[in-house]
Amino acid sequence: MKITAAIVPARSQPFEIQQLDLAAPLTDEVLVRILASGMCHTDLHARDGYFPNLPYPIVCGHEGVGVVEAVGAAVTDLAAGDPVVISFPYCGQCEPCSAGRISYCTNARALKSGGRRADGSTPMSRDGAPVYSCFFQQSSFATFALAPAKDVVKLRRDAPVEWLGPLGCGLQTGAGAVLNVMQPPGTSIQGQSIAVYGVGGVGLAGLMAARIAGCDPIIAIDRLPARLALARELGATHVLESKGGETLAEIRKITGGGTHFALETSAVPQIFRLAVDALRALGVCVLVGSARAGTEVTFEMPWLQGGRTVRGVIQGDSRPRDFIPQLVDHFMEDRFPLDRLVTRYALADINRAAADAASGATIKPVLSMPH
Ligand SMILES: [Zn+2]
Ligand SMILES: [Zn+2]
Repeated sequence: MKITAAIVPARSQPFEIQQLDLAAPLTDEVLVRILASGMCHTDLHARDGYFPNLPYPIVCGHEGVGVVEAVGAAVTDLAAGDPVVISFPYCGQCEPCSAGRISYCTNARALKSGGRRADGSTPMSRDGAPVYSCFFQQSSFATFALAPAKDVVKLRRDAPVEWLGPLGCGLQTGAGAVLNVMQPPGTSIQGQSIAVYGVGGVGLAGLMAARIAGCDPIIAIDRLPARLALARELGATHVLESKGGETLAEIRKITGGGTHFALETSAVPQIFRLAVDALRALGVCVLVGSARAGTEVTFEMPWLQGGRTVRGVIQGDSRPRDFIPQLVDHFMEDRFPLDRLVTRYALADINRAAADAASGATIKPVLSMPH
């Protein structure tokens, strides 16, 4: 079938809108009519060559949301007409996948940024020549996308699906870091302190989740005053512009000696260090910010030895089919107002959306597809 998609023609080139051909779904895939797709910094990293295994030309996009158009012969739990969000890929067979820890799939890199299906095939083409796709096994900067059915999450029918794409990656990352990792099922972190370092989309999702969990105080740290103002509206009890040692002293003062929890989303080594230095004894710092390969950070060994934990987390430890419907319920009941983070753009304006995301002028771009 013919589709309209945004392609990156070569490394570090702007997006271009093109007409492409898309193959029919395999037996375990679904074809989704994409209504909208969130844009993550990961899409920009892909454009700019951060992923050594990523081939060009490539169609990016990994926060697709829409309506199932058709399903492969082996798909029994989704049907045409279902509203869905497409989440991250996993193999289902490696050690983490077998243990149910699918966001740590050891085959994730190939599935996310190899540009092909797991079987090596390339379902998109132009004039008969392959165009790489399958970015996060979806490539949702397009009017239609193919995805493995197991990565696709059915949404409640009364939800405004065109707003919900960012739940597939960025927002479940921040929210899951709090609601799955800091507060595992059956526990409560009500009344405990948290600092959120970097209040872009991931950080603000974590902040809204911290409010749902009843954390207090909730401290937002960022370099952009406009984001801090929004953080305050969304539940931050304190907001701080990051200024090194002065910020550390302020956090310790607000929390009476340091935070119980830190959510590091900035991927900046000095900020990560600040997040760990501002932990109280037995405090936990969760790292979700994605740094470029080779980035290093230093900590003081005696400080970590004081019962402090630093943990890396991917996709908020989420099992999307369980967790995303919970976040949709929070959204529908006004506890998780993700629409406050979103700025909508037409697909044709994708380069403007990317520039606004890079500058911080827009927190979470969502691209509407032309149909
Ligand atoms: Zn993402
Ligand atoms: Zn796996």
